[in-house]
Amino acid sequence: MSQSIIRVNQLHKSYVTGSNSLHVLKGLDIDIKQGEMVSIMGSSGSGKSTLLNILGILDNYDRGDYYLNEILIRQMSERKAAAFRNQYIGFIFQSFNLIAFKNAMENVALPLYYQGVSRKKRNMKAMELLDRLGLKEWADHLPSELSGGQKQRIAIARSLISQPKVILADEPTGALDTQTSYEVMEILKEVNNTGITVIIVTHENDIADMTQRVIRLKDGLIETNQINGGMAQKKTESSIFANN
Ligand code: ADP
Ligand code: MG
Repeated sequence: MSQSIIRVNQLHKSYVTGSNSLHVLKGLDIDIKQGEMVSIMGSSGSGKSTLLNILGILDNYDRGDYYLNEILIRQMSERKAAAFRNQYIGFIFQSFNLIAFKNAMENVALPLYYQGVSRKKRNMKAMELLDRLGLKEWADHLPSELSGGQKQRIAIARSLISQPKVILADEPTGALDTQTSYEVMEILKEVNNTGITVIIVTHENDIADMTQRVIRLKDGLIETNQINGGMAQKKTESSIFANN
């Protein structure tokens, strides 16, 4: 059995605003092994983004334990959290979160800029990734000149540039049409085939069906945690990441 990359025990999270407290996560137990592809479902407001933000060390939790690669993650300084994120995690968002005034290559290279990698080296790595994602000729285009699908591929390239162990994707297909959504899911499957753990928040059943396991949140708890049968287990044949 491969080791847990993400493990939470009795995770609780409340948001306190003024005199109001909203108990969003009410004791979650989750264990995700290195190399899994998992979706997290649940109705709007069920705490999916809250959970993903905690897993990505963008937010703290109140009670329980969170182990990332078997290291306890709790109440750390922003500096230390950033170091863990750099080492382990890539993010993908529904709205792409690309920087409007930077071109595709610069957007992909950005995480390496924050790690102090030289311009030459980071641009070279960004070009390699753009090439693998079929976007090389778009390197000097601004996000505004790209389609939604192209923007999400740029965001995927950016998420991969620090060679993370885990990709956290919050509704990555939420802003895309069906065809483009499936293309993005194919890329994420290929990323997963290289051994990277992929966790996708979605409220679309057909997207969740493409992952190996579905965790459903309801009323702050895990309602179901089910392995997908058949299709989902099938590995994609062609792999643009084969020579990784
Ligand atoms: P989902 O992603 O499943 O739609 P969220 O995790 O975004 O749900 O939100 C869960 C609940 O917590 C919602 O009721 C939301 O309004 C509330 N919430 C989310 N973020 C905050 C915040 N920063 N402050 C206060 N309440 C929040
Ligand atoms: Mg959300």
